Amino acid sequence: MSQSVVLATYAVRVEDTRGRRFPEPPHPYRNGYQRDRDRIIHARSFRRLENKTQVFTKRVSDHFRNRLTHTIEVAQISRTIAGALQLNEDLVETLALVHDIGHPPFGHAGEKVLDGLMRKHGLRFDHNLHALRIVDYFENRYADFPGLNLTFEVREGIIKHSRDYSATDYPELSEYLLDQYPPLEAQLIDHTDEIGYTTADMDDGFEARMLKLEQIRSNVALFERHFREAETRYPAAPNKLKFNEALKRMLNELVTDLIENTAKRIREANVTTLDDVRNYRERLAAFSPQVERERREAKEFLYENLYLSAPLRPEKLDGERVVGDLFEYWLRRPESLPPSYQEKAKGEPLARVVCDYIAGMTDNFIIDQHKKLVRREAVRN
Ligand code: MG
Repeated sequence: MSQSVVLATYAVRVEDTRGRRFPEPPHPYRNGYQRDRDRIIHARSFRRLENKTQVFTKRVSDHFRNRLTHTIEVAQISRTIAGALQLNEDLVETLALVHDIGHPPFGHAGEKVLDGLMRKHGLRFDHNLHALRIVDYFENRYADFPGLNLTFEVREGIIKHSRDYSATDYPELSEYLLDQYPPLEAQLIDHTDEIGYTTADMDDGFEARMLKLEQIRSNVALFERHFREAETRYPAAPNKLKFNEALKRMLNELVTDLIENTAKRIREANVTTLDDVRNYRERLAAFSPQVERERREAKEFLYENLYLSAPLRPEKLDGERVVGDLFEYWLRRPESLPPSYQEKAKGEPLARVVCDYIAGMTDNFIIDQHKKLVRREAVRN
């Protein structure tokens, strides 16, 4: 409807959707995926992304990304690639906007500690599965049904964009065609997420002076190549502008490579229909081998020198402690959970209910809860 280019024969067609759990009449001006996109943008869990850690919890600059601005960047990159590959842009945009909605506070530190705590109770925490619970049950906006009542392809993409789930381990997901790969629209998202955060985190890390120009240049070949080009073209420009030029070109190379290499793989695999995509022996969306190697190198560099670096360690440990303390607190004192969660605990394991409550929180809210409950309890004892 909104798309100006003709869809490829292997793209998802909105007319062929497997539909919604609760059937709804069509909308006169928006197709099903556009409506799903709009439902996500208007959801509370989407607005909360603004106050969830991407990399920096203690944001020393308002210029750094949070999970909302990261999400918008991923949506932008995804639309470009979807357009170039003649995929369904509405579906791709929707999947990009929803891709991080299941993240708990404090980024990956929060996710890791929640999963660890849940395992002690024989349960798990996984942000993709949590995202599905949010859109299926926790968003309460409509009188006719629970959740957002999204189309099948969006719900499938939420769980399958970044990993495969086996039907043996996850029987509850059997409706999501676990023996097939997801459409290219969903396959793209894992890569556009990586393109988005690799370049953005390098930018923020440099701005935060935690990454030095020389250090990036000597460790990240993908960056160095473009930095040299920027130096040749703009010898008199300040380093910060050369850095920006190099980063922009690096992002462009990653996007271009993903478009061209995925198109090549589609051609070589003789893929012409959506069923071909779903049943091919591996995922078709991929970088070329050389760029994939360089992307990995950039990612490893960021892990070593930013995500797991000594300067970020204190805030990571703080985040883990806050999540851990509150998890144990509500297990000990379920009567201090909000009434709606106490109600849920009648039908589900308490650990799951506490985990759901915590996972939905923003960084600010959970820090505030920690001050109010855990520290006050410590003072009383
Ligand atoms: Mg992401």
